[in-house]
Order: sequence, then C-alpha cells, then structure tokens
Amino acid sequence: MTDLLDKREFYIDGAWVAPAAARDLEVIDPSTEEPVAVISLGGQEDTDRAVAAAKRAFPAWAATPPAERLAVVEKVLEIYQRRAPDMAWAISHEMGAPQDMSLDDQVDAGAYHTKNFITAFRDFRFIRPLGEHAPTSMVAWEPVGVVGLITPWNWPMNQVTLKVIPALLAGDTCVLKPSEIAPLSSMLFAEILHEAGVPAGVFNLVNGDGAGVGSQLSVHPDVEMISFTGSTRAGIAISKAAADSLKKVCLELGGKGANIVFADADDKAVVRGARHCFYNSGQSCNAPTRMLVERAAYDRAVEVAAKVAQETAVASAHQPGKHIGPVVSRPQWEKIQGLIQAGIDEGARLVAGGTGLPEGVNRGYFVRPTVFADVTNDMTIARQEVFGPVLTIIPFDSEEEAVAIANDTPYGLTNYVQSQNGARRNRVARQLRSGMVEMNGISRGAGSAFGGVKMSGRAREGGVMGLEEFMDSKAISGWDVDA
Ligand code: NAD
Repeated sequence: MTDLLDKREFYIDGAWVAPAAARDLEVIDPSTEEPVAVISLGGQEDTDRAVAAAKRAFPAWAATPPAERLAVVEKVLEIYQRRAPDMAWAISHEMGAPQDMSLDDQVDAGAYHTKNFITAFRDFRFIRPLGEHAPTSMVAWEPVGVVGLITPWNWPMNQVTLKVIPALLAGDTCVLKPSEIAPLSSMLFAEILHEAGVPAGVFNLVNGDGAGVGSQLSVHPDVEMISFTGSTRAGIAISKAAADSLKKVCLELGGKGANIVFADADDKAVVRGARHCFYNSGQSCNAPTRMLVERAAYDRAVEVAAKVAQETAVASAHQPGKHIGPVVSRPQWEKIQGLIQAGIDEGARLVAGGTGLPEGVNRGYFVRPTVFADVTNDMTIARQEVFGPVLTIIPFDSEEEAVAIANDTPYGLTNYVQSQNGARRNRVARQLRSGMVEMNGISRGAGSAFGGVKMSGRAREGGVMGLEEFMDSKAISGWDVDA
C-alpha cells in the first residue's frame, strides 16, 4: 500500500489544488484487484470553484484568435505523443487494456481525434454566407461558454479528446469530470494541457462520482452545455437535471449493434465480426454484439465464431501481446456473469465460453470470451448491453427480416453490414436506424462524426460536426460583405 500513487488533487485555475473536503477513493487495477492510486471525490465547493475559474477565463479565451488556440492544441498533440508510454501505463492500470493495445489503440485514438480536429479546424469557416438568395445574411459560429464534460472509463482518452479538444478550439472553457474508475489518464492529460500552455481556467478537472460532481455540473447555472458519454441511464438523469437551466445537452450513450452477415459476405466477415465484439474485452459502445447471419451461412458462422472465442487469449494487462485483458471492475464482472447466466437460462445455445473465470486464473476481473447461438432478439442477451466479450448469433431468412431484427432495439449507435452485393449494402445501410453504419470491415473515414439515434443519444463527435457541436450558430442579417 505504501507505493500507492497520491492523486488526491484537482486541476483548477491552472494549478493542482487540494479538495475542499477529504473523500478518498482507490483506483483498482482490474488485472490484479490491487489499488494503484488514491483520488479524491469532489463536492459542491470544488465544482463551484472549477466552474467559477472557467467562467472567469471564458471572455479572454473566446476572444483569443483561432490561430492561437490552434497553436495551443498543436502543442498539446506534440506533448501527448511524447508522453504516450505514460498514458498507456495509466490506461492499462485503471481500466485493464493490455499494454500493447493501450499504446497502439487506446492512446492512439486520442492522437487520431486530435489530428482530425486540427485538420477540420484549419479549414473551419466561423462566418459563412447563408446563400445567394440572401446576400447580407450570414451564419456565425461562436463558442457556447462554460462546458461540463463527463466521460466513461472504457476508452478514456478517446472520449476525453473528443470533448476537450473541440472545446478548446471552439473557444469554450471547460470542467472535465472523468470516470472515477479511470481518472489517472485524465489527470495526466491535465498535466499535458498545463505544459502546452493552456491558460489558467480554460481547462479544469474535478474528480468525483455521478451523484456528486456529475450532477452538480448538470444543474449548475453557469454551465451552458454538458457533453456526456456513458450509460443511457446516466444520460437520462443528466437530461432531466439539466432541464431547469435549459443547457445544451449532447449525449453519447450505449449501443447494441447488429452485424448483418449475408451469405455472400467475404470469407473473413465472421472472424472480423467476432474479433471486433471481443476487442477491448467487449467494452465498446459500438461493439457488433448481435451477429445476424443469413440461414445459408449460419451453421458455418456459429462454428467460426466459437473458434475465434476459443482462440482469444485472456491475460493480464501488464503482459505484452495481442490478448484481451480483464473487464474494468468487480461490479461489471458480476453484471456480465449474470447476463451470461440469463442467456443460458433463457435457452440460447452456449457454443463457447460461459460463466466463471477463464481456466488457470484466480484473480482479476477476467471474463471468458463467450458465444451464444440460436439467440432470439427478445432474449435478455440480445436486448441489454453486456459490455463484456459476449457475442450473440441470430439467424435470419430475408433482407427485410434482417433489417427488422437490427432495428428492433432501443439503441441506434453503429450497425454493420457484410455483403459483396453493393446495391444491397447501400439499400440496407439506408434502412438501418443508427447514427453510423460500417460495411465490409471498412472503418469510417477520418473526421466523420461519431454518434447515434434513439437511446444511444444524438451527439455528433469528431471532425467538423464535432467542432460545431461545441459552438452555437448565430444568424446575422444586414452584414456588410465588403467591410
Ligand atoms: P456511466 O454512465 O456509469 O458513467 C459515465 C460517467 O458518467 C462517469 O463519469 C460517471 O461518474 C458519470 N455519471 C454517472 N451517473 C451520473 C449522473 N447521474 N449524473 C452525471 N454524471 C453521472 O457509464 P460507464 O459505466 O462509465 O461507461 C459505460 C457506458 O458508456 C456504456 O453504456 C457504454 O455503452 C457507454 N459508452 C458510450 C459511448 C458512445 O460514444 N456512445 C462511448 C463509450 C461508452
């Protein structure tokens, strides 16, 4: 216990400060179940202090020329890349991403988004003509004000950069409340912003839980906008809490993505889909967790997916290699065990994995990569977000049926289509009710917006739309175009 990292301070107004009242929380390493650090959970006084600092800093930051804000963000990127190994260490220890994956994917995601924002910002037009029909009408894009940023633990830097970077570029000032389960990466990010010369008060970080700092930001009269990524449950609570002050609320929530595999899909489609489902130990909101397979290809797909599960190694985050790590916490582990058991109890056919720890493991929150076949879309495992390495496979007989099953979910984040028939792919993509559709294993292009519909929330993050999300538009008429 003596070598626990002391991370009790918050970053407010350009300095690390002690919390108003002591309330410690240990950060637990999911690979070992041992504490690695201790943080503080903030309270109203800490929240107020951070919001006040952001409010004071807003006029000057909003008036800072965009080129100067861009230069600060470019500096942030440079330091972030230099500190990538430290960041990978923090992410592995707080949420269990294996060290190689942490560096190559978790940390890299933050750099990737930051680069895309920089590219989008270079061409960003803050004042745009409405159209030839109204020559003196303009649309101006302006910062929102003080924004509250609340993030989850599963892709810590992915989420944090998707919020902090556009806020900085837009001219907003912010208070970040990272997940209390995975706060170390965000605290390192605060150090990076400090070193990059982000002026005092422009970025503030207060650790805390949802009931405390999370709710305090959501109701705060001086916070103009909340950008939230996390569970649908919390998204609903935040929307209600923010209603009295009529904040702008942008929500990135859960998902239950369908991966429609037609019989004419390429050979790798099932392997790719199963691997994607298990990636990050299944802890991705856009994971393709419902594999819908056309009847003619169904038996073979079940076999292949089961083999992928059996071949997916599960091991400590502190070992090199391509394995998956533990899930984040004891409560998550227990929740996943309950859902696997529900699959068994409701009559799905377990073809790989199951409940309990993987063989040879006696500590850490490790889950066996699990595949259920013969799932029907009304089963609990097809409806609820498992957030663990659990794949459900559902057969279908026609394109119409596949689309109907895919859309029969409260969520609408990412859906996937595998087919070599281009016309069919395009047709199905347009019918799926989700914010994103990825087909034949081709990732969305750099700068395309991430976000959903329905219970997945309707935020749009990343690229140009992700910059606009952190601004308000202003319609101006009588503009002197020659001035
Ligand atoms: P969570 O909702 O429990 O917590 C997320 C954050 O919200 C944490 O910082 C938490 O402290 C805070 N919070 C919790 N309750 C709150 C409240 N009432 N008011 C204000 N803040 C509150 O989610 P989690 O367990 O950290 O993350 C997993 C969830 O996030 C999954 O459902 C996943 O699908 C979702 N997620 C969505 C996306 C996306 O972009 N759509 C990305 C990643 C994760």
